[in-house]
Amino acid sequence: MGLRIGRLRRLMKGAGVDAFYITSPENRFYLSGFSGTAGALLVCREKVYLLTDFRYTGQALRECPGFEIIEVKDSYLESLPEAIAENGIIVMGCEGDHLTYNQYAAMEDKLSGVNLKPAGGLVEELRLCKDEGEIKNITEAVQLTDEAFGRILPVVRPGISEREISLRLEYIMRSCGADGAAFKFIVASGPRSALPHGVASTRIVREGDLVTIDFGAVYRGYHSDMTRTVVVGRPDRKQKDIYNIVLEAQVKAVSAVRAGVKASEIDAAARKVIESRGYGKQFGHSTGHGLGLNIHESPRLSSKEHTVLQAGMVVTVEPGIYLPDWGGVRIEDTVLVEDSGSRVLNESPKEELMVL
Ligand code: ZN
Ligand code: ZN
Repeated sequence: MGLRIGRLRRLMKGAGVDAFYITSPENRFYLSGFSGTAGALLVCREKVYLLTDFRYTGQALRECPGFEIIEVKDSYLESLPEAIAENGIIVMGCEGDHLTYNQYAAMEDKLSGVNLKPAGGLVEELRLCKDEGEIKNITEAVQLTDEAFGRILPVVRPGISEREISLRLEYIMRSCGADGAAFKFIVASGPRSALPHGVASTRIVREGDLVTIDFGAVYRGYHSDMTRTVVVGRPDRKQKDIYNIVLEAQVKAVSAVRAGVKASEIDAAARKVIESRGYGKQFGHSTGHGLGLNIHESPRLSSKEHTVLQAGMVVTVEPGIYLPDWGGVRIEDTVLVEDSGSRVLNESPKEELMVL
């Protein structure tokens, strides 16, 4: 953890802040390893504090060596002035994306003599490239989704509801060791598969339906995210054609992933294939996103994102085609960026439209 704090301090210097008050649970965990559900960090030039309440102080002492633990009695703000005075803090960075207006107003009111400066994005910058331990956790989360996908397939049959599929998927994943679901699963069957974010509904799966299943696991705080589209019963020509276009786009985009390439180029690789077949307008979302402690992180693989990929980034590649009243297809893998290419972490088959 000391390494991460050291890197953050260098960024804080560049951002012109003496201290950084961190309230985002993911950033707090990343920097301290504290797994409790309530707490904040104050990173100063020399000292680093973890503020939490009575329920977690023992846990904090165990999990966060090197941090000074401040036990919060009534409010976090009342616990800050002493540390602020002790460290001579004049400019304190805070996370604009994670403070409510009321919290910010209370800080302005109670912390007189301190200038608050929005300094969001600093920890997120550190989190862009994953280290070995993080990659291990993401890989484990991906393996849990692969395992659950293989085991859910026999269940996807005419007569079952989307919700039942979603529920069973989560049950399988959690019994295999996942800490939880990465998000509300998408199980979209028949015409509903045209909804890119069709969260599982009460619709009953029928013969001939395309079923898009988009789900993920959380393992030790880290997320996985995968999508497969399958067909129940015999597929028709059009279902196969659309699937093959999406597959070609996905494979092309994955093979474009490597360190040194702009995120927008990955998006372009997928979009080019889909546009050339006349379905450009039916691919209305970006090609993928980073993931880690959050399900959606930087960089986005979109036409406007010019971030250059670096080894250690983990991104999803997930093009799709959605035709209203007919259905849709999306294929998504979690991919690790490497110096000379990429490693697809998912092992679930995708080479042809899977017939159930
Ligand atoms: Zn997904
Ligand atoms: Zn995704």
